Amino acid sequence: MAIEPSLEFNTDEAAVLARYFTNLDRPVFALRNLPEVVKGALFSRYSRTEKSLRRVLLDEFINVPDSGFQALANTSGSSDDMVAVRRAEEFYERVLVGYGDDSVAELAGAHVAVERTSTLAAKALEDSRIGISPLEKSTRYVRFDRPDRDGRFLYHRASELAHPDYEPAADSLFETYSALVDPLTQAIRDRFPIEEGESERAWKAATRAKALDMLRGLLPAGTLTNLGLFGNGRAFEYLITKLAAHELPECRALATDLHRELALVIPAFVKRALDERYGSPAAERMMRVREAVKSIDAHTPSPRSGEGLGGEVRLLESDPDAERKVAAAALFPHSDARWEDLRADPGQVLEALLADRANRRQRPARALEHAQYAFEIVANFAAYRDLHRHRMLTQDRQLLGTALGFDVPPGLAELGMQHRVVDAIERAAKAHARLERDLGPALAQYVVPLAYRVRWYFRVNLREIYHMCELRTTPQGHPDYRWVAQEMFRLVGQVHPRLARYAKFVDMGPGDELERRRSERHLDEKLSALDRRVL
Ligand SMILES: Cc1cc2nc3c(=O)[nH]c(=O)nc-3n(C[C@H](O)[C@H](O)[C@H](O)COP(=O)(O)OP(=O)(O)OC[C@H]3O[C@@H](n4cnc5c(N)ncnc54)[C@H](O)[C@@H]3O)c2cc1C
Repeated sequence: MAIEPSLEFNTDEAAVLARYFTNLDRPVFALRNLPEVVKGALFSRYSRTEKSLRRVLLDEFINVPDSGFQALANTSGSSDDMVAVRRAEEFYERVLVGYGDDSVAELAGAHVAVERTSTLAAKALEDSRIGISPLEKSTRYVRFDRPDRDGRFLYHRASELAHPDYEPAADSLFETYSALVDPLTQAIRDRFPIEEGESERAWKAATRAKALDMLRGLLPAGTLTNLGLFGNGRAFEYLITKLAAHELPECRALATDLHRELALVIPAFVKRALDERYGSPAAERMMRVREAVKSIDAHTPSPRSGEGLGGEVRLLESDPDAERKVAAAALFPHSDARWEDLRADPGQVLEALLADRANRRQRPARALEHAQYAFEIVANFAAYRDLHRHRMLTQDRQLLGTALGFDVPPGLAELGMQHRVVDAIERAAKAHARLERDLGPALAQYVVPLAYRVRWYFRVNLREIYHMCELRTTPQGHPDYRWVAQEMFRLVGQVHPRLARYAKFVDMGPGDELERRRSERHLDEKLSALDRRVL
């Protein structure tokens, strides 16, 4: 007979355990007041014990003096966190002996902040797709021209970037940005006056956001930003190893910094990241592979510089059999037939799967992942930054340069402000050419403004097409990426009209002229609802 969980612990035991669990009598409970490593160690025991987790904590740790748990519990949350972490580490090592599975490192996580890092390095950090959730300072909501403590603009400076052309070009981009923020905001406010029923807060925020959106192309890729990452130990370990192999010295330094800080909070999980047995050889191999692949002659005609034709989205590959595959995948879990014997009218299956979606958050089924597409995209680096954040894509980019031309928001020309912008951007292009010659193409990227186009690929399944295109075509989205998402969707619709038909929240319209206006009004409504609740 099953023992009632509420009967599992006597009063003394319950008194000890209550501090560590959200309940003691139900089968679903959360862990609290325990260091990350202990939580990881506890979960790792699930695979080797028939006891309940709460019983393991009690029998194997709390009541076993040698486990070190008491010392750990006594120091946990105390002023001497370093002692607590070291004890947690010893504790974890003791528990983990014999449990070599790498996945144990996914059982604990950490929040880490990375500040004053270049936009290029931020992209390298965010390139890790599985197990890491990033958030980054927004070019839409935050001015990037606030000077540093020493009065200089915030962009990456380092010995490897010592070049007479770098700082003057970067300064000129920031000066132009800085000089234009206020007049552009004013011009936008004149063009979009406050509307009836709109609060001053909402109107000011929306018009400021539009000005910052229009000027972000001036920011060089060396612009410093701040980001927060939440991730599990395993993902961080791999990220550190990859950064250690990166071609930019800034990223290699980040590997050391991240490793040092994460070793203070989740040491057991990142200890192999740079060690001599696994981490360092893996990083060295990544560098060797990069160099080896680079040296292979790709038999391309001379670089297609000066293309300058504008952005482009090309569908490289799609699967003519996609409809049948999606239908078979949808039927599969409801059948006992073999894959190849699953036959049904795809139209009927799609209708059953997708016809009733009421909003974009009602996700399409996993079966849509059986339709795959490959795209090559040429769009500005600012748009790349936005779309790069979609983790369900397989993607990679080419080095950021100036050969593919740049975009200037049409609104700037209408307001007669494009000349200054174009001057600063072209000056940066000249500096880029000299940096490329003297420092190489990887370092030269730092001076390239986000307005310049870059070429990248996406390999993507239809389910993510639904998610990404519905999200990235909302009318308040930035025009830089809206057109890319619209074009991707149009191309999918051309090859697979029936599969695309149900992504009905993709917005192929022109978008909102004042992109943030609707969202800010909505925010006002939420704020006043909160106020009413508080009163
Ligand atoms: C209007 C707008 C403004 C934005 N502003 C900012 C900003 O200021 N700063 C900023 O940093 N970013 C910003 N972003 C980017 C945003 O935070 C996301 O990184 C980006 O949209 C990627 O999309 P996604 O998270 O929905 O999922 P994708 O990475 O495309 O993944 C698809 C889906 O898979 C699931 N998924 C994938 N990975 C995880 C995971 N680790 N945990 C849980 N679920 C997961 C989710 O359901 C997700 O929706 C903005 C995006 C939009 C559309």
